[in-house]
Amino acid sequence: MAILVLNCGSSSVKFAVIDPVAGGNIIVGLGQRLGSDQASLSWSHGGEKGEVQMAKAGHAEVISAVVDLLKKRGLMASVQGIGHRVVHGGARFAASVLIDQSVVDGIAACNHLGPLHNPPNLLGIDLCRKLIPGLPNVAVFDTAFHQTMPAQAYRYAVPHEWFTKHDVRKYGFHGTSHRFVSAEACRMIGRKPEDTHLIVAHLGNGCSATAVVGGKSVDTTMGLTPLEGLMMGTRSGDLDPAVIGYMADRLGKDAKAIIDILNKQSGLQGVSGISNDMRALLKAGDEGSEAAKLAVEMFCFRLAKAIAGLAVSLERVDCLAFTGGIGENSVPVRARTIHYLGALGFRLDEAANAANGRSTNGRITAEGWMLALVVPTNEELLIARDTAAIIG
Ligand code: AMP
Repeated sequence: MAILVLNCGSSSVKFAVIDPVAGGNIIVGLGQRLGSDQASLSWSHGGEKGEVQMAKAGHAEVISAVVDLLKKRGLMASVQGIGHRVVHGGARFAASVLIDQSVVDGIAACNHLGPLHNPPNLLGIDLCRKLIPGLPNVAVFDTAFHQTMPAQAYRYAVPHEWFTKHDVRKYGFHGTSHRFVSAEACRMIGRKPEDTHLIVAHLGNGCSATAVVGGKSVDTTMGLTPLEGLMMGTRSGDLDPAVIGYMADRLGKDAKAIIDILNKQSGLQGVSGISNDMRALLKAGDEGSEAAKLAVEMFCFRLAKAIAGLAVSLERVDCLAFTGGIGENSVPVRARTIHYLGALGFRLDEAANAANGRSTNGRITAEGWMLALVVPTNEELLIARDTAAIIG
């Protein structure tokens, strides 16, 4: 049995065919720059790679091309269901679901909360139902894992009507990663999820951290949108909300334009003026750029501060798990973050950290001190597993 996992963005379609039991990717690929002259579809299957130019192709053409590719390579026959990543499920969806018309309507009813992501996610679902009839479709939400947060964690201190009439609250994102990594961390340290209190730091281009108790999210750093919380590649994360009105006045722009800058020109990119990419900034810092060094230091300081804040939702910190491109690979970022967490009882094992925890079952802190681990994430595998479980 295999599952086709689809992640439809506004100008890209990521796909993978995954064996949900064995866990391996059978084929992975990416359709990108959709709608433009440079639209293309690339894939990698068992060591073989391919790319086709598909000038002007949109989502429909690319999904059709993916189906043709899977047929040509003899993979379509084993695909028994399609798992769709859906970004915003609002307060309606607390778990993955089999898609029928009422689920499509429910996702559409969350479009105001995820205006950039939900419409392309829905387009992918609609196209699969038309182009690949007969296969069940499952929606797996970025927000669902966080629906277990208690009200003191998910409510904002704003007028009550903002919550009741306008759905203003924390929803949280990266739920599939936090769920996968928290379960994986428990497996790695031989603890039952039911008895484990931990914090997961998902650090990629987008970054968020989550407190997990008994396998359930109890607090997270992202909010109504993915702009809240940690400093990220191009997103500011937390700041005084009055900055928005202040800069709107100063620049003669409206709030939307300022929020666009906070989403796309801030974070590591904004502070360094060099790049949104951690690898590039670490290199620039080594070569003497003070702006790059400051951006990295701010990233680690603010991350540590958020982790300390999440600890108030736990009775104890059984472990801190680092994941995502930065969390899994960036030795100095983990080192500086652990340094700032000294007061909570974390102390780095430098050799273990330098090896990304590979020879210590993930552990990067010194024995006898608070436990921090590197735990590789695999959101696609969790989507495939949920899909397989739901379609039976
Ligand atoms: P993701 O969104 O999970 O793919 O993560 C992307 C981020 O991970 C980028 O900022 C990359 O620079 C960063 N990253 C990937 N590999 C490394 C590495 N070896 N060292 C530092 N950062 C890395």
